[in-house]
Amino acid sequence: MDQEIAFLIKKEEQRQNDNIELIASENYPSRDVREACGSILMAKYAEGYPYKRYYGGCEYVDEVETLAIERAKALFHCNYANVQPHSGSQANYAAYHALIPNGSKIMALTLNDGGHLTHGSPVSFSSATYRFCFYSLGEDGRIDYEGLQRRLYEEEPDLLLAGYSAYPFSIDFKRMRSIVDKFNLDKNKHCFFMVDMAHIAGIVAAGLTQNPCDYADIVTSTTHKTLRGPRGGLILSNDLELGKKINSAVFPYTQGGPLEHIIAGKAICFLEDSKPEFKDYMARVLENTKACNDELSRLGCRVSGTENHLFLLDVLSSYGLNGKEAETKLGEIGVTVNKNMIHDDTLPPSKCSGIRIGFAAATSRGASLEDAKGVARLIDACLKGKESKEELINRRKAIVSSWADVLSL
Ligand SMILES: *Cc1c(COP(=O)(O)O)cnc(C)c1O
Repeated sequence: MDQEIAFLIKKEEQRQNDNIELIASENYPSRDVREACGSILMAKYAEGYPYKRYYGGCEYVDEVETLAIERAKALFHCNYANVQPHSGSQANYAAYHALIPNGSKIMALTLNDGGHLTHGSPVSFSSATYRFCFYSLGEDGRIDYEGLQRRLYEEEPDLLLAGYSAYPFSIDFKRMRSIVDKFNLDKNKHCFFMVDMAHIAGIVAAGLTQNPCDYADIVTSTTHKTLRGPRGGLILSNDLELGKKINSAVFPYTQGGPLEHIIAGKAICFLEDSKPEFKDYMARVLENTKACNDELSRLGCRVSGTENHLFLLDVLSSYGLNGKEAETKLGEIGVTVNKNMIHDDTLPPSKCSGIRIGFAAATSRGASLEDAKGVARLIDACLKGKESKEELINRRKAIVSSWADVLSL
């Protein structure tokens, strides 16, 4: 009936099929996930939690949500899950509220070093509701754990926050836990430790990095990034008493009725992610990301290096372009990236010196190691500006031609 929206959906589908998607926070969910999210479950009101609802007729959505919860707990080896947050930001909003009163102090990573808006940005609820202080990365662009410990004793926060949006290395959650434990003991405090694993949840699910659920009081996540599920949020814990507080912090404190159709999509995603195929996929994501990083390095670029699904390319020192210009140039040939601050950035956030490159989405479509190196050479050729736009577009088409259609996954 609505030709205008139908046309735009078709165009967006075509854009996704034609382009090389390197935005590190994006991915393509399976057809099963998409069907659940478009299902008639969306017609159901279900305020409350399974078997404790404020509405009648919830017998089937109760089972759907229970399955999602049980699968999330099994996937992340923890004993509490809340699958209702509408997004990662909502999950963080609720998690902070469950842990600490308004006005408490949170210590997070400096935003320019790869934090998230909800980690104390002046334009987010977070900085209006809590007091923020920050730790920073070391000169090598990695978390400086000794510096972090020093900052903890200086600032004496009520909550330490880890987990980032543009950090290319593994995180030692175990070490952070022991730093917090020592601080609490020395100072007779009760500082909580929270991990926002929005970006790396898929790597955690695949068992390819430390599981923050083993160390943090609360773990929050998105379900649409490396997890390859529907757009949404997730909160995990091993503390059942805290779980009760999280439940009331999600509903009724921050949200109304849950999106049971999306929760069905999350349940399917958690099942998919528990299969050996997902572990293989995630291992290929890490290999492809490293291959692209290493090829750019071989070509003489300044790259961050990587231990996960993303890395940062310093386009200012490599090509004399700012991040915004590089993003536009690559966009013109159908390679989608986002500008990003790099560790020692000298430009404002509206420009940035770098771009962020991730391989979760491209690998879902079947990008091989050779493709990852080819993408590096294409990026390099494009940003050097020596080939014509037409030649570059043909090179992009040649790479994408063997990849799966985004609706077939
Ligand atoms: C993406 C992200 C979020 C928020 O996700 P939304 O679903 O967009 O609200 C939160 N924290 C981190 C670290 C993220 O990268």
